[in-house]
Formats: sequence, structure tokens, C-alpha cells
Amino acid sequence: MSKKEFNPFEMAQAQFDKVAEILQLDQATRQLLREPIREYHFSIPVRMDDGTTKVFKGFRVQHNDARGPNKGGIRFHPHETIDTVRALAMWMTWKCSVVNIPLGGGKGGVICDPHHLSAREQEQICRGWARQMAKNVGPVNDVPAPDVMTNGQHMLWILDEYETISGGKYPGFITGKPVGMGGSLGRTEATGYGVVFTFREALKEMNLKPENTTAAVQGFGNVAQYAIDLYTQLGGKVICVSSWDQKDQTSYTFRKLSGVNLQELLSITDKFGGIEKTKAKELGYEVLDGEVWIEQEVDILIPAAIENQIREDNVNKISKKVKIIVEGANGPTTPEADKVIEQRGIFVIPDFLANAGGVTCSYFEQVQSNMNYFWEKDEVLSKLDVAMTSAYRAVSELARKQKLYMRDAAYVISVKRVAQACKDRGWV
Ligand code: NAD
Repeated sequence: MSKKEFNPFEMAQAQFDKVAEILQLDQATRQLLREPIREYHFSIPVRMDDGTTKVFKGFRVQHNDARGPNKGGIRFHPHETIDTVRALAMWMTWKCSVVNIPLGGGKGGVICDPHHLSAREQEQICRGWARQMAKNVGPVNDVPAPDVMTNGQHMLWILDEYETISGGKYPGFITGKPVGMGGSLGRTEATGYGVVFTFREALKEMNLKPENTTAAVQGFGNVAQYAIDLYTQLGGKVICVSSWDQKDQTSYTFRKLSGVNLQELLSITDKFGGIEKTKAKELGYEVLDGEVWIEQEVDILIPAAIENQIREDNVNKISKKVKIIVEGANGPTTPEADKVIEQRGIFVIPDFLANAGGVTCSYFEQVQSNMNYFWEKDEVLSKLDVAMTSAYRAVSELARKQKLYMRDAAYVISVKRVAQACKDRGWV
């Protein structure tokens, strides 16, 4: 029997159906929210460096904008599919809603491999994307951002083309811009710090002081590094980090039971978040099999690397000491493992709440850009703390009151807000 291919959009719809049932949503609202409200498919012809012309396929999916302009990244990927983009757009709607920012959910993509394209060819794809979408995106209706294999430079090319077409300056059209070109201070820290703001609140509820807790972290990239930074500042101790070794094509766990030193590890880390083994040993780290991060006797597990890392085959290796799993990465836990975690009563802070600091800061970038007035880093980070703390508290209060699993409570809050906005507007 052939195994059915994984379809992320079907998974997103199944998750939504479960929440729709809990909320007893009416038929029309269910129908509206389980599909994107709009989507665009288009072709981008590009004159290549060798003189030939190639046509790239582009997408933009706007899942729901009842709460405000759509927001979501543009991905460049050779295997991009419309169903991946649809699922990601829907997840953006829920993520913006759970942190209560006035934005909807969008996602875009182009089927291409930037590794095999010159900078000029990539610029032409970006400008072509903006030309195709200019009428249907913008600061008041759909705000893109960098995502897989796109960065601040791509965003500036798209912005420049959009502004040329629109005949004005609209820095609030796009986020993820470099600081000094309309970007926000604090964006680099935002996701990792946001992860810590949420579990700091969970620790308070459990009457635990950060300085009396320990954590194990998977990943040593942007999210993990800033999560370790803030948790350590609060007095917490990270006893190991796991990261991917590009050369060996496997992961390793770097453990120091007295607590890892962030600056020390950063000094032996490449730009992809890979850590040098020999140097780590010299600095007193044990270099272990990559998966053992999950078995550590710690209070907090922070998966902050990639998806599908806590699975049916390793979920039972989680120590009895673990009280909190905070999902820094997107989709680190499979549905099968999630059931086991729920049964074991481990407290989970789900990905779309825990890592929403990034999109919250992008919202701040949009606000600052629209005003053309930029805040100091401290101001950005303290606003982020307020937003993440109140989002966390709303979810945990609902979970407690209605005896819901945290993941379900987060979905219930966000879907309910979007459904209400559709109702208030008279759409359903
Ligand atoms: P990154 O590329 O900066 O870092 C990824 C890290 O994971 C690297 O250290 C890499 O070595 C490690 N890694 C990869 N595979 C691994 C494996 N099998 N075992 C152990 N380590 C492994 O990425 P990032 O920006 O830190 O993002 C991490 C996760 O957080 C992703 O799921 C991303 O979608 C999610 N996320 C990021 C942001 C953000 O603002 N950066 C926002 C929301 C969600």
C-alpha cells in the first residue's frame, strides 16, 4: 500500500476542524475559515544572465483579513507547493490572532532555487513579484516579510518596485527591512526573547524561580541563541544545546552540566548555527549524540531548531523531571507525540504562541514605518514583553478555566477572535 503524501494544508484544515467543533462554529464560518479568502497565482518572466528567458511561478495566499491587513513571508523554494503556502497563510492568521495584533494571515512564494540564481536574477524575480501583486498588496491590505531563503535585501527590491509603481514612499508595505532602511531595532532578539517571556510567566504560575531551573535547548540559531541569552540573564541554567553539523550531516549535543556559556559557544559557531566539536571539547563540553538533548533531566525543554523533532519514537525519552516544553521552532512536535505529552501532563507552550515574538516585532516595524518614526530598542523590547505576557496569560487562563490542553486553548482563543471579527463585519 502506498503511503499517502503529507499535505500541510490538509493538516491545517484538520486542526481547524477540531477547534471549530470545540467552539461549535456555524457552517458558514467553518467554510470561510477553512479556505483562504483569496489567492493569486502568476508567472514571472525573467531575462537570465545568459540571455535566455525563464518563467518562474509565483503565489500569494491571503487566508483571512477580518482583523486587519494580511501578514506573512515570501518563500523562495524549488519545491514550493500551493498547499504549503495555503497552510502557512492559515497558521499566520492564528498566530497574529493569538498575540492579538490587528493583522490577518498571508504567505507567498516563488518556485525557484536562489542558490542557482545570480543577485541580478533574484532582483528581477522580486521586482516581477511586486509588479504582479502591486494592486493587491500594500500597507493597508497585505504586508510581506522575509521567510525561507529570502532576506532584507529581497524585501528592499520588492519595496522599491512597489513604491515606483505606487508613486510614493510606503515603508510600512513590507517588514524585515534592514535597520536604517525602515527595519526595527529588536527584531533580531524578538523571537528568542518572546519564547522566554512566555515560559517566564509559566514558571511564575508554577511558583518556580528561573534561577532554580535548568533547560536543554535544541538548535543554536537565531531563536535558540536569544532564548539562551535572556533565560541566562534571568538566572536560569542551560545545560546543553544541540546543533546540526553540516560536514558530518548529523546533529550533536554539547553539554556542560555547570551551564553552557553563550559567548563561549558563539565564538566557535558558524553562521548556520553549527558548533565546532574539537574546540567545544577543549572548552570543557561533552560532545554527545544529537538526540540526547531530549533525555536530559531538566525543568524546561526548548526545541528551537526545526520541525518533527519530538516524535512517537523519542517522546518517551523525555525525563520525568521536565515540567515545561516551550516550542521555539515551528511544528517541533508530531501529533502522535503531542498526545503522549498531553497524557503525561507536561505543560506545553505551543509554537504559534511561543515563537510569535517575531511577528509581533514585525507588526511594530510596520507601525513605526507607517509613522516614519522609529523607537529605541528598549522601547521595542518592553512593548514585546507586554504583548507576549498578555497573550500567554490569556491562553493559560482559558486552559485552566476550561481544562483545555494549552495547544487547544491557544487555538480556541485565536480562532474565536477571527470568527468574531468575520461576524462583526457581517460576513457570516
Ligand atoms: P536558524 O537557521 O538560525 O537556526 C537553526 C538551528 O537549528 C541551527 O543551529 C542548526 O544547527 C540547528 N539544527 C538544524 N537541524 C537540527 C537538528 N536536526 N538537530 C539539532 N539542531 C538542528 O533558524 P532560526 O531562525 O533560529 O529558527 C529556528 C526555528 O524557529 C524554525 O523552526 C523557524 O521556523 C522558527 N521560527 C523562527 C523565527 C525567527 O524569527 N527566526 C520566528 C518564528 C519561528
